[in-house]
Amino acid sequence: MKKIGLLFFVLFSTTLFAQIDRVDPAFWWVGMKNPKLQLLIHGAEICNRQVSVDYPGITLVKVNRACSPNYLFVSLELDPKTVKAGKFQFRLKQPDQPDLIVNYELKNRRPGSAEREGFSSADVIYLLMPDRFANGNQANDNVDSLPDKADRSKLDGRHGGDIQGIVDHLDYIKQLGATAIWCTPVLENNYQHASYHGYAISDYYKVDPRFGSNDDYCKFVKASHDKGLKVIMDLVSNHCGIWAWWMSDLPFEDWIHQWPDFTQTNHKASTIKDIHAAQVDKKIFLDGWFEKTMPDMNQKNPYFWTYFIQNSIWWIENADIDGIRMDTYPYNDRDAMAQWAKAITDEYPHFNLVGETWLFNPQDIAFWQKDAVNSLHYNSQLPTVMDFITQNALSTCFNEHGNPWEDKGMNRLYNSISNDYLYANVNNILVFAENHDTQRLNYLLDGNFNKFKMAMTFLMTTRGIPEIYYGSEIGMTGNKNLGDGDIRRDFPGGWKGDSINAFTATGRTATENQYYDFMSKLLNWRKTKPVIHTGLLTHYVPDNDVYVYFRYNEKDKIMVILNNNETNQTLELNRYAESIENKVIGTDVLTGKTYDLKSDFQVPPQTALILELK
Ligand code: CA
Repeated sequence: MKKIGLLFFVLFSTTLFAQIDRVDPAFWWVGMKNPKLQLLIHGAEICNRQVSVDYPGITLVKVNRACSPNYLFVSLELDPKTVKAGKFQFRLKQPDQPDLIVNYELKNRRPGSAEREGFSSADVIYLLMPDRFANGNQANDNVDSLPDKADRSKLDGRHGGDIQGIVDHLDYIKQLGATAIWCTPVLENNYQHASYHGYAISDYYKVDPRFGSNDDYCKFVKASHDKGLKVIMDLVSNHCGIWAWWMSDLPFEDWIHQWPDFTQTNHKASTIKDIHAAQVDKKIFLDGWFEKTMPDMNQKNPYFWTYFIQNSIWWIENADIDGIRMDTYPYNDRDAMAQWAKAITDEYPHFNLVGETWLFNPQDIAFWQKDAVNSLHYNSQLPTVMDFITQNALSTCFNEHGNPWEDKGMNRLYNSISNDYLYANVNNILVFAENHDTQRLNYLLDGNFNKFKMAMTFLMTTRGIPEIYYGSEIGMTGNKNLGDGDIRRDFPGGWKGDSINAFTATGRTATENQYYDFMSKLLNWRKTKPVIHTGLLTHYVPDNDVYVYFRYNEKDKIMVILNNNETNQTLELNRYAESIENKVIGTDVLTGKTYDLKSDFQVPPQTALILELK
């Protein structure tokens, strides 16, 4: 009898418990600037229940029903004067039914949370893919609840890398001289195939268990901060994954953009500002799906958009992150994006957000930066944009020679930087030679170390926030034409039994050490140079593929020289007199060699010099 009674109790309480299966966000904070809070409550047939809460300082403004009977959207207002941190309950009542209880907590914010400093041009960002960096926990390579199982033999399979793998190698990243880590998305991707890339999110509030738990992610951020490293979280507002938890029970028909037949975006971002664009093209660009497996979210649905904005703030506050990178930025409704960026920067005025602005001319990219001047009077509120123009220049310029009237060779770099008048803030431009979607730089340079040094010298000394892609610092290569997986190979030494461990100097090959030592020297030098972070820039028209520019502030002056020739080039210093002024000697940061600025000197072939002028 006893056993049956116990079994009955377990079943009964499970049934009751199962009626509410989700409350997002699961907890919140007191002391936020925005006093409003929206709760999404999901549970079978809960739509007709009366919701009540009795807690000092909380006003239940409205309970909104959705199209699906299994949702309630509860609008709350928290009185900043009276509400205190604590635990309490929401009660969901329906006649002749037992009450449903939602246990809730309002927490105190961490001290100084609102004043947190986001990443900036003083940082160097290390971009890595968690699945491909290091496997710190083999026990989580596969989990029962998610279908895509680990298989390192497949380029697009999951390889088992995880958050613990990053934590285990924070010292490696710190010694390299990077100061911020951008991980491609860590949130759950319940997805049968190629889920490792992370961009088909199935739960915006849950770290993928194959990477670790939410708690593991928070601990990773804390461990990074303890070493002086910032963390940038990669989020996706444009689309979710086809197996997102809500796809089987959409709250509203227009929670996502629905089409009679699969309709893919036309990728034509210009349509949203093109005064000649057809409405149909604009609609397909914005509302078409990114992939068959990635439903297009509707940022114009106010419940979804509040849900998403709160989700971003929840991750900032909960995990203590230092920045957000937002995927496929122009594919979202632009007014909603401005609302998102403003909501976050109102709450955290010194935070930084960067949007993926993969566009093909500088005016299109500049359009997306906060306070940009444009005839549409649009203000995106987004602090930082990505410089795909310079990325494109870097991917070709070292393999060609060009004259001043051509966009070739060093003139590509000169031309891309000469567009800076378009940008509202030139320090908040993310500059990079490659990322997880482009050809790897070392593949394009065919393993030429001299060219690599020139490319990285440029990245680390031009304006903006440099980003480097994991593995390039040891000469890693990969060919996108063989599949995305090839530019996302495993970092050597990240897996038990790897024949090479490139995380340590003794484990690296001589060539890998050559790359790493160069990068470490360059990045660690940059760390302490405000003149590079925020100084002004003057550059000179490349002369026979020798590009010269200066970074300067009131205190310091740096002269950078890139000679993309296979021969020595004589630098005629008279040309640079307006920048050199009274300086007489330049010391090369990379070699320590000094150069007399009173007389012309020879720059060796395929060489980058960074001269600190005195
Ligand atoms: Ca693992």
